[in-house]
Parts: sequence; C-alpha cells; structure tokens
Amino acid sequence: MSLFSEKAESLIPYVPGEQPKDGVYIKLNTNENPYPPSPTVIEAIKTAVGDKLRLYPDPECSELKKVYADYMGLSEENIFVGNGSDEVLSIAFQTFFMGKKDVLMPDISYSFYPVYCSLYDVVALEIPLKEDFTIDTSDYIISNNGVIIANPNAPTSVALSRDQIEGIVAANRGRAVIVDEAYVDFGGESAVPLVNRYDNLLVISTLSKSRSLAGLRVGFAVGNKVLIEGMNRVKNSINSYPVDLLAQVGAKAAILDREYFEKTRLDIIKVRDQTTEQLLKMGYDVLPSKANFIFIKNPEKNAEYIFKKLREKKILVRYFKQERISDRLRVSIGTAEEMEAFIKALAEI
Ligand SMILES: *Cc1c(COP(=O)(O)O)cnc(C)c1O
Repeated sequence: MSLFSEKAESLIPYVPGEQPKDGVYIKLNTNENPYPPSPTVIEAIKTAVGDKLRLYPDPECSELKKVYADYMGLSEENIFVGNGSDEVLSIAFQTFFMGKKDVLMPDISYSFYPVYCSLYDVVALEIPLKEDFTIDTSDYIISNNGVIIANPNAPTSVALSRDQIEGIVAANRGRAVIVDEAYVDFGGESAVPLVNRYDNLLVISTLSKSRSLAGLRVGFAVGNKVLIEGMNRVKNSINSYPVDLLAQVGAKAAILDREYFEKTRLDIIKVRDQTTEQLLKMGYDVLPSKANFIFIKNPEKNAEYIFKKLREKKILVRYFKQERISDRLRVSIGTAEEMEAFIKALAEI
C-alpha cells in the first residue's frame, strides 16, 4: 500500500518558467508584460484593502462578470471567472473532456494540456503541426470528443484566422472546441464574436499577459450559457471562492481602463516587430508572431548553448528540450531597452 493515490504517484506536473529570486535578470522567459498594471488597478486594490477582507468574496464575481460581458458584447451568463486561466483550463478539461478519448490538440502547444490530460484521464490525439509550425485545420474536422487549440499557439506564436477557427467549430457541433486566447490581444483575431452562433465554442482568456496582471491570477471562459453552467457545476464542487476580493476589484479596473490597455498592447506589438526585423537581419529564423513573444532559431548555433550564454549575461529566455523545437528559443517581448540589450547580447554570443 502506498501513502499516495495511484494518480498522485504517477503525475508528471507542469514546470513553469524560472522566477529568479535575486531580480538582476532581464526576464524574457515567461511571457509576462514588461509594463506595470494600469494605475487604476493599484488604486482599486488599495481602496479594497480593509475590513471587507473579513468576509468571503462574491462567489459569482458578479460585478467583474458584468464589466467583462460588456467589454465582450455578451451577457453575464456567457462568462466564467477563475483563478488564472490555468485554473479555467483545468475546470474546462474536467467539464468537457474528463475520461474521454481522442481529444484533438496540436503536438506542439501549451505544455499544460498534456498534464491536465493525465490528471483527468483524457487521452489526447496529438496532431503534428506542419513543417512551418502552422496548424492544418483540415486535421481538426470532425473529432470524436472535442478539440483544444491555443490561438495564437504557444510556444510557436503563430495564429489561425477567425474564419479558420470557425471552420473547426462548425465541423464539431455537439463537441466542445476550446480556444485558448491567452495571447490574442497582441494581433490575433478573437473567436469571441462566434460565441452567439456556436453553442460548442469555449474561448479562454487571461489578464496575465495583455493586462500585466500575471500576479493577480484572473482568467475567463466565454461561451454559450449551457457550457458556462456546466463549468460552474464543476467549480462549485471544488472551491466556491477561487477569485479573491482584491483580484475581483483589480480585474474590474483593468478591463475598464481601455486606454492604458491599448497603449501598452500596441507598444509591445511595435517592439516585437522591430526586434523581429533586427533578428531577421542577423540571419535568425523568426516565426510570424501574433503574440508577446517570438520563437527564433539561429541557423548555426545550438539553441541550448545560446540559452546558457544569455543566462550568463543575466538574460533569461525559454528553451524547450522537446522534439522538433529543441533548436529554437522562445523570447518574451520586453521593453525597447530590454530588447536592445537582448540583441546586443546575441550579437556578442
Ligand atoms: C500563460 C498562458 C496561460 C495561463 O495564464 P494564467 O492566466 O496566468 O494562468 C494559458 N494558456 C497559455 C497558452 C498561456 O501561455
């Protein structure tokens, strides 16, 4: 007999990117936003710190849901809120995929998906990306038990158009198609406008990347109210209060500050495109990015070597020791100054 459940004993967990404690690094390894959160977020959280923390937060996140529904042009019954989109994904896997076989996903995608599969007894059918790292949508026409795709995909940064997503959703009626849009604000086309037409589409989003709030832990799912009700059933069987009081008020302020969001998001797109141009001139292969990171390959030098050399120079990027992508580095887009330092360091290496 073992101390652990059979499941716990066999789990291989997700490994997040390094968060160094000494703070002297230029951090281009976890796709965080280099800009601070909107000042209105800090103000809202400061104001909320007080006696109210004695009480449980609103389990429905009603005010936050209303603000997000307005932003998305939908209603509150279309919105699910969770403790970061990782939690939202976990609940979506339990709600739609648990115990099922042949759930379609790309072979190269967010590495948390296979972890949820093993935790929730889902058998994934991994579909290889094409040679150029794009998704062939014809591979996703008519699945047995649903589809999950990150769009833009991670770590490739490559996006499908809304029409391409619609083709997959339309061909999979009666099965959940989950689109993880963690990076969509950096140039992708969101599938949210399709939610009213397709009752099998669930779009997952987060404030961690484009709202500079990775530390606050707020994510959403957007979909037909039947899908959202199912997710609430699962959520309320685990934890009624996953989103704390401060996160709810901070998230609300972040959604409302459209101006700050637009400015920082466009800045990152600009710096990304400048960095891409410089790297192409230096002979790097850079996939066409619609995200706040780029996926790059040096034509000669080994990626792990460059990763280590950058680390010595106090610059962190992400290296995946995984088939097909071990010759590439994923580099988050920092400020213009940070990216200059990155380019300079690469040139020295
Ligand atoms: C960062 C990321 C998430 C998780 O975001 P959180 O909301 O911080 O949990 C989800 N999906 C993808 C593809 C991501 O890269």
